[in-house]
Amino acid sequence: MPADSFKALIAEGSSNAYTVAFKQLTDEALPKEEVLVEIMYSSLNYKDGLAVTGRGKIIRKFPMVLGIDIAGHVLESSSPEFRKGDQVLAIGNGFSETRWGGYSQRQRVPAEALLHVPKGLTLKQTMAIGSAGFTSMLCLISLEHQGIKPGGKEIIITGAGGGVGSTAVALFAAKNYKVAASTGRPELHSFLRELGATTIVDRAELAQRTAPLLSERWAGGIDTVGGQTLASLLAATASYGAITACGLAGGAELSTTVFPFILRNVALLGINSVLTPKPLSIQAWERLARELPLDKLDSLTTTEPLSAIFELAETILAGKTRGRVVIDVNA
Ligand code: NDP
Repeated sequence: MPADSFKALIAEGSSNAYTVAFKQLTDEALPKEEVLVEIMYSSLNYKDGLAVTGRGKIIRKFPMVLGIDIAGHVLESSSPEFRKGDQVLAIGNGFSETRWGGYSQRQRVPAEALLHVPKGLTLKQTMAIGSAGFTSMLCLISLEHQGIKPGGKEIIITGAGGGVGSTAVALFAAKNYKVAASTGRPELHSFLRELGATTIVDRAELAQRTAPLLSERWAGGIDTVGGQTLASLLAATASYGAITACGLAGGAELSTTVFPFILRNVALLGINSVLTPKPLSIQAWERLARELPLDKLDSLTTTEPLSAIFELAETILAGKTRGRVVIDVNA
C-alpha cells in the first residue's frame, strides 16, 4: 500500500444499481480542485442515509465519495483564500451528489465551496451542526425576513428528535421564541424540554387529515416531515405566519388548500441549504457560532466512527437517530 494512501467510502456503478465500499485511495485519485483538506470529521444527515443505502437518488456522478459534510485542516492550497493549516469546513454544494464528499480521510475541495471555521466553534462542533444545523439557521433567517419575532404564538418544529429538528429547538428557544416540538418518540420528551421546548406535540396528531383551516395556533414553523404534517401545520398557522418546508422524512407529497394563503396571508417558504450562496453561508455560520448555545449542541450530539456508517445509515432512515451524529473519519 503506498505511504500516502487513505481510506474513503466510495459508491461505484450507476444510479440504477451501485455498491458502496471502503477503498484505499491516493491523492492522485482525488478531483483536481484547489484545496487539499485532511478531513477530521464529517457528519450523518438523512441524505447521507439515503446515499449510503441507495434508497434515494442522491448520487448523480459515479464513482462518488459519499458524505455531504466536511471539516478538517488545509494541507495544500492554490487559492489565496486558504493557507496550509487553516481549519475549514464545507457542506452542501453538491458533495456526495456531483462532488466528492467527506467520508474520506482526505479530499480536494474547490475554494468557492470552502469556509473558514468561524471563531468560537471547534472543528468537531462545526460537524455537530453540519448541514442539519445550518438548515435550522436558514429557517430562522427566513422566518425573521418574514417578520416573525419572539414574543408571539409558538413556533412548531416537526421531526424534533432528529438533526434539523433538535438543532432548531435549541436555536429558536435560545432566541426566546416559544417552541412546540413535535415528535413520535415519547422517550425524547425530556430531552426536547431540556433543549428548550415548552410544548410537546405528538407526531400522530399532525399526521391526521384536518379541516382546511383550524384555529390559529402557530406563529411559524419548521417542517422536516412533509406530507400531511406540513398540510396540518399550514391549516393551523396564524395570520401572517409562515412555515419553512425543508424536509420529507414522512413523505414528499403535499395536499392542502389555498385557504391558509388567501384568508390568512400564510407563507410557505422553501429551504434548500445546498444552494446557499457563499455570503449567506458565512453569515449563517457566524450566527450559529454566536447564537446556538454550545452546551445544548454538545448535549444533542454523539460521535461515531466512519467504520459504523452502514448501521448508522439504516438507523437514521428508520427515524431512530437522536439529535446529531458527528462522524470521526479516522475511526
Ligand atoms: P433525521 O432522521 O435526523 O430527522 C428526521 C426526524 O423526522 C426523525 O428523527 C423523526 O423525528 C421524524 N420522522 C422520521 N420518519 C418520520 C415519519 N415517517 N413520519 C413523521 N416523522 C418522521 O434527519 P435530518 O434532521 O438530517 O433531516 C430531516 C429532513 O430534512 C430530511 O427529509 C432531510 O432530507 C431534510 N433536510 C433538508 C435540508 C434542506 O436543505 N432542505 C438540509 C438537511 C436536511 P421524531 O422521532 O422526533 O418524530
